[in-house]
Amino acid sequence: KNLNQHACEQLTMLLEGFGMTGATPLSNWVDGQLIEGSGDDIVLTNPATGDTLVSYRDAGGVLIERATAAAQRGQRQWITLTASERGRRMNAALRALDGHEEALAQLESLVAGKPIRDCRAEVGKVREMFEYYAGWCDKQHGEVIPVPTSHLNYVRYLPYGVVGQITPWNAPMFTCAWQLAPAIAAGNGVVLKPSELTPFTSVVIAKLLESGGLPQGLINIVNGLGKTTGAALTGHPTISKLVFVGSPQSGRMIAEAGARRLVPSVLELGGKSANIVFADARLDDAVAGAQAAIFAAAGQSCVAGSRLLIERSVFDEVTSRLARAAEQIQVGLPSDEATRMGPLQNNRQFEQVTRMIDTAVAAGARVLTGGKRPEGLPEEAKGYFIAPTVLVDVTPDMEIAQHEVFGPVLIAMAFDDEAQAVQLANDTRFGLAGAVWSQDVARAHRVAGQLRAGTVWINSYKAISVMSPFGGFGDSGFGRSSGLEGLREYSVPQSIWVETAPEASVAFGYGNG
Ligand code: NAD
Repeated sequence: KNLNQHACEQLTMLLEGFGMTGATPLSNWVDGQLIEGSGDDIVLTNPATGDTLVSYRDAGGVLIERATAAAQRGQRQWITLTASERGRRMNAALRALDGHEEALAQLESLVAGKPIRDCRAEVGKVREMFEYYAGWCDKQHGEVIPVPTSHLNYVRYLPYGVVGQITPWNAPMFTCAWQLAPAIAAGNGVVLKPSELTPFTSVVIAKLLESGGLPQGLINIVNGLGKTTGAALTGHPTISKLVFVGSPQSGRMIAEAGARRLVPSVLELGGKSANIVFADARLDDAVAGAQAAIFAAAGQSCVAGSRLLIERSVFDEVTSRLARAAEQIQVGLPSDEATRMGPLQNNRQFEQVTRMIDTAVAAGARVLTGGKRPEGLPEEAKGYFIAPTVLVDVTPDMEIAQHEVFGPVLIAMAFDDEAQAVQLANDTRFGLAGAVWSQDVARAHRVAGQLRAGTVWINSYKAISVMSPFGGFGDSGFGRSSGLEGLREYSVPQSIWVETAPEASVAFGYGNG
């Protein structure tokens, strides 16, 4: 049996295990039911081999009607529960994941092409998100505002009603839980559309959570293309808030679709994050950090540290150590336990990354390592593999220094002083993340404070927690996810006034006429 036949059989088995097999996969979870789409076929390829893995059908507009109506009913039921009961139900629902972790990780690994060990960690993140936001259910209380004593004024936080969420393919389970958990903790119903390239794990998560006690229809997952199912969702009159995770190009379309109906949006978009290494940094740590920053998830991470800015006196040392470290990374099949870096997820991504490397080289950049398919892969692994790549002789005006690659490609540039480091770091339209490596505490904080980025690390990279707000500046989007800020994005403040002393009220100019 060849590699792809084996993958196809494994996928069928996993889908069967979750009750998702029909004429084509039952790729939607709507109103408590697994439902097949009725639109055009969408073909998924195996990222490791480039062969066809499975096809399923686009959900289309009719299912969006059903999903939004179900979410409305589910939400009405959800908000009749006490806040504490909602928190208890969210925690209890997680028990339905018990025993399914490995199957979920395998499903994700097969379709997304991510190393199996990374997918197992991602399942753990799903739990973390729900546990954290379950705890917020009975703690998001209002405030009393100190207006003049003629009145009592207080603020309550209400749910929007039904929110629409759209997510990308690079971390499907993580992103799904990241947005579902705060949305329902704040009392909303949800219709979520995952990327058409990674449709299944979000469906499984929603199905399991509902079997664990969440109300029927509270969470609905619809799968299909952005221009069909996605557009039907963003334009639906029932949706009163849009939350989008993906590229700036699509983000613009989602925000525009929302704006036409005056529906607000949160946009979590791409990045071109700078990793700044000063000569006084602990270089062992900086090299290890820079390597993890760009090569984890084969660079398909919104916070990838794709620009390494190095103080000139240590530039050669850092780049050559990094190139050696990159060559040690175990690139291989996603299913292999030893694999640390798998293929890119899809052909479009592969072509984009290859084209951007070639364009950079044509413009004068030099490949220190990588830049092509890795060696030593099994013959059948003809999929979207690119070796960990380090480019030097890059100038800030090159495409590769300005645009998101979303692949395992690091560019390194030298700087001479702190001011130039900050200037180079901020020389991009993005503003998602960044890091500073230095043992000079004052300098590290000084530089961190000047970076136009939603998240900055000092002597670390990629430390992320659901407890801390996350989001971007500029082309990296607006609004925040995680933490209390993430919960507030799913809540509308309502200000309530009660007149308590009519005479005093007139004196303050608050007269009731
Ligand atoms: P993408 O923008 O191509 O697609 C994202 C989602 O948008 C998909 O579900 C797609 O079907 C949908 N979509 C596209 N056009 C649409 C439309 N007109 N109407 C409605 N929906 C539409 O992004 P991608 O290639 O899937 O993901 C990669 C991008 O996501 C990168 O830029 C990456 O940096 C970004 N990302 C950002 C974060 C973050 O938190 N900031 C996290 C992960 C990924």
